[in-house]
Amino acid sequence: MTANALAIEVNSLVKYYGAHQVLHDVSLTVKPGEKIVVCGPSGSGKSTLIRCLNKLEDHQRGKIRVLGTELNDEIENINEIRREVGMVFQHFNLFPHLSVLENCVLAPMLVRKIDRKTAEEQAMTYLERVKIPQKAHNFPGQLSGGQQQRVAIARALCMKPEIMLFDEPTSALDPEMISEVLDVMIELAQGGMTMVCVTHEMGFARKVADRVIFMDQGRIVEDAPPADFFDNPQHERSKLFLSQVL
Ligand code: ADP
Ligand code: MG
Repeated sequence: MTANALAIEVNSLVKYYGAHQVLHDVSLTVKPGEKIVVCGPSGSGKSTLIRCLNKLEDHQRGKIRVLGTELNDEIENINEIRREVGMVFQHFNLFPHLSVLENCVLAPMLVRKIDRKTAEEQAMTYLERVKIPQKAHNFPGQLSGGQQQRVAIARALCMKPEIMLFDEPTSALDPEMISEVLDVMIELAQGGMTMVCVTHEMGFARKVADRVIFMDQGRIVEDAPPADFFDNPQHERSKLFLSQVL
């Protein structure tokens, strides 16, 4: 990894599902420590874009560099990037047959080759940070949605990633659980993590985002600081979107 590299560099990204083009020449850069909120209507390509950043989806044209490493077909590059990029999904995606603690130690032990004792100590530190250490020996199914999502965040942090990607982490949660997850994300942001968050939580965006990216029909329509985006959106589509979510 190159010193002073951008955290993420996406250049003219093009992605098709079959014959259906879902990303049209998408370009963006994220500096180390920046927090980006990505929003836009359903189907606009938000998930596809962030899933391309760790090759959960293949792209067809354009370049992606993460922490200075090009995301191409080379497995070493892909693995290197995946080690440094944590991801949190809408539906948590915890392993249901493993305890909370096992969910947290698995990847550090397998991928980072950390011994069990160290991995468990580290996992407890992160479970404390997301305020759920008392559930370490429970199974995901015994936890509320908000608790599961906080475990998912802790699990991602156990890999000590440089970058965290969030794909609508609160949109499957009951309203009363949203803030417990957002509070964890705010703390993470304030701790200096580089973050790309797909979310419609505009209060979160105002509070922590350095930039808000608005997507529509597979294109980035706006890329602006939150104050500009919220108070002076430049496009009819973003105005319409804001009128619906605010
Ligand atoms: P968003 O996250 O903004 O709702 P997505 O990235 O999920 O949008 O989807 C963008 C477009 O790609 C949509 O038209 C969607 O139907 C399509 N799409 C998403 N995933 C797949 C897939 N696995 N196969 C085919 N089409 C898909
Ligand atoms: Mg999505």
